Amino acid sequence: MAKEELECSFCGRKKPETSLLIAGLDAHICDRCIEQAHGIVIEESKQSGNSELSAELMLRKPKEIKAFVDDYIIGQEYTKRVMAVAVYNHYKRLLQPPTDDDIEIQKSNIIMVGQTGTGKTLMAKTIARMLNVPLAIVDATVLTEAGYVGEDVESILTRLLQAADYNLEKAQRGIVFIDEIDKIARKSDNPSITRDVSGEGVQQALLKLLEGTVVNVPPKGGRKHPDQKFIEVDTENILFIAGGAFDGIERVITKRLNMQAIGYSSINTDSVDKDNILQYIIPKDLKDFGLIPEIIGRLPVLTHMDPLDAKTLRAILTEPKNAIIKQYKKLFEMDDVALTITDGALEYIVEKAIEYKLGARGLRSLCEEILTQAMFDLPGSGETKFNVTKTYAEDRLNKSTLKKLKAVS
Ligand code: ADP
Repeated sequence: MAKEELECSFCGRKKPETSLLIAGLDAHICDRCIEQAHGIVIEESKQSGNSELSAELMLRKPKEIKAFVDDYIIGQEYTKRVMAVAVYNHYKRLLQPPTDDDIEIQKSNIIMVGQTGTGKTLMAKTIARMLNVPLAIVDATVLTEAGYVGEDVESILTRLLQAADYNLEKAQRGIVFIDEIDKIARKSDNPSITRDVSGEGVQQALLKLLEGTVVNVPPKGGRKHPDQKFIEVDTENILFIAGGAFDGIERVITKRLNMQAIGYSSINTDSVDKDNILQYIIPKDLKDFGLIPEIIGRLPVLTHMDPLDAKTLRAILTEPKNAIIKQYKKLFEMDDVALTITDGALEYIVEKAIEYKLGARGLRSLCEEILTQAMFDLPGSGETKFNVTKTYAEDRLNKSTLKKLKAVS
């Protein structure tokens, strides 16, 4: 075909009438049509409210999500991978164009089981920070069925709206972290509880939110009353992450493992890692613990947190981007004091955190106990260096609050 006979396959303009004509396999497109098409793409993505999101998320593959989380959270390799995939799939689901097939991607809400202080909340916070989406952290224990004293389940969405500065679009793509989900387990084995105020009824109320529904939310929270204006929040694209310690679930898991060992000779209970029984958790264990099957079904991604051993605790002190020790160094630096802490002192702090069963949360209170005196004395003293040794740390702890810390453990 001669050059001047080429034309745009969309608008039919001949090549000389265009400023640019780009060739495809069997077709051409002119500059004007490109611009128009671009406009349509922008409009479309704006309409679905995803333009900002897609730009942000398209850059983050599961490996990159994990790499981001690695900067803040030590260990928990399994959960990091599971979360990276679940979060990636969740937002892929949000971004999926309307298709003509019947394949609808289901929500990948997550449930994390792990002892307190192992980083469940931190995981949810870190993911929300990375995605730049609003996060509401709620405690399942305060939730009650409508009509009882306590907070309605809708209050979860009030929190999310607040976290999103009342930007509904943003809230509807946010993350809700429901802590202590285990506390609303059905207490069937406790005959003294006759009215199940905080158990199954709350689970039932939560179901609707988890699966996706439009909820009338009182924007300022509190009880619903007739003259209050509601905001309609669609939970369809909200990612729910539930977390809980599920105290005692190890027994449920061990029992099942033993039963399986009897049933199938291929399972050898000797090879079970007894220090980390949670890693064997399956959804059935949650049911046996008291979560209703419907809830379990709507939290299809189940993962566990590993217990924190000494090595991990030691790393938590110094390695994450905003590690506790880095924070103290910064605080001292602002008074022109260079803070150093010997390995011996760090190991001593870890030892104490384990001894008092304080977990990672204890690291901070221990550091606070050890450093408070210096943080009081050093500003304005002219000192430019401060070295914390094991002896110093021991001395500070012995003087102040050993007893207090023991009392909380
Ligand atoms: P959980 O929600 O499991 O009870 P958190 O996420 O609240 O525990 O953890 C408490 C604190 O302990 C966090 O703020 C963080 O400083 C620290 N922490 C816990 N686990 C880790 C971890 N794996 N990596 C880094 N810091 C952690």
